Amino acid sequence: MIELQGLSHRYATGPEIRFADLALAPGEGLLLRGTSGSGKSTLLALLAGLLSASSGRIVVGGIELGGLSARQRDAWRGANLGFVPQRLHLSAALSVGDNLGLSYAAAGLPVDAARVDELLQRLGLAELAHRKPHQLSLGQAQRVALARALLRRPRLLLADEPTANLDDEACAAGLSLLQQAAAEQGACLVIATHDSRVVQALEGARMHLMALPRLAAGGAR
Ligand code: ADP
Ligand code: MG
Repeated sequence: MIELQGLSHRYATGPEIRFADLALAPGEGLLLRGTSGSGKSTLLALLAGLLSASSGRIVVGGIELGGLSARQRDAWRGANLGFVPQRLHLSAALSVGDNLGLSYAAAGLPVDAARVDELLQRLGLAELAHRKPHQLSLGQAQRVALARALLRRPRLLLADEPTANLDDEACAAGLSLLQQAAAEQGACLVIATHDSRVVQALEGARMHLMALPRLAAGGAR
């Protein structure tokens, strides 16, 4: 499902960040660990086709991302990718339900109201559908983020520090939801974290581990 070969990324002003080779079969997940600044978000952005590799290859679901035009990458992302950001950015004026609907509009698609309802139900958010974003707890907002990432049944689900703002209970609940949702949808789950609670909670789960070393002073690795 995911294959990395000789992958590296260099920001215009920053360090070159190299990543170990990796091969993930469909249904397998990846836990990406490393301290702050080690390159976790960079790798997620590469996997999402939001950044281009400086060298090496990324193949996701049989498609080499480097071979796609910007436009093809946008289309690929829309059709295949779910992203759970660290902080959910919702439109403050809209309800939770309408915010989810907005994801379709943003992609130029008709709203699939049945799918929105299904995910609200599945994630225990049905009673919150009419709330405004500021009326959600962090744990609830995290579930909305997950719902939004799952709307279009992505094959690849990327989560960037999904537990960073959560207490222990919400952290455990959020992780099991992520895993369960990925398993139900047959999606490949990649979680980037520096939260040791996540590492503990996922022990025994069928996930590959990639530990990113700290970038040396000056940024090279
Ligand atoms: P992490 O998610 O593990 O905290 P990042 O992938 O965000 O790490 O960052 C990895 C390294 O790349 C850091 O040294 C960071 O400062 C640098 N970096 C991130 N984004 C940029 C950017 N847009 N321009 C230059 N350097 C960047
Ligand atoms: Mg990061």
